[in-house]
Amino acid sequence: MTSTKIKAKRAARQYTWEDVEVLTYKSEGTAPFKDVTRQVLFDDPHLAAQWRYFEVAPDGHTTLERHQHVHAVMVIRGRGACLVGTEVFSIELHDLIHVPPLTWHQFRATLNEPLGFLCLVNSERDRPELPGSEDLQLLRQNPDVAAFIRV
Ligand code: MN
Repeated sequence: MTSTKIKAKRAARQYTWEDVEVLTYKSEGTAPFKDVTRQVLFDDPHLAAQWRYFEVAPDGHTTLERHQHVHAVMVIRGRGACLVGTEVFSIELHDLIHVPPLTWHQFRATLNEPLGFLCLVNSERDRPELPGSEDLQLLRQNPDVAAFIRV
């Protein structure tokens, strides 16, 4: 009985780090998203970069957005799918995803497990842009993309 309890406690501590706060992804109401947390793992001015860990709960999704800064992403938990540009990719453990400048992107977890990924960005970066109705119309010309995106 005791060993079962210890095991459960350990599992609950995975994907968090000492002295790293589990933050909200973005302020509620500023952009559409569902069930995402953010942790800033490294934020050293000498690096001029931030290394973050995001976790998307089952059935959750990040914001559909684009910006000038790039993302270097590695999946370290679960599985899911992402839109990059005009294509939807299924993603799994240790996959690398590069999001180039001004490229629409969105991440979604599967229905039954969280999707966790590391994401490297510039410390100084532009604000994300949300899609307007014309952008959405263009994106939705691809049926896979139309079925995938959440706005
Ligand atoms: Mn982004």
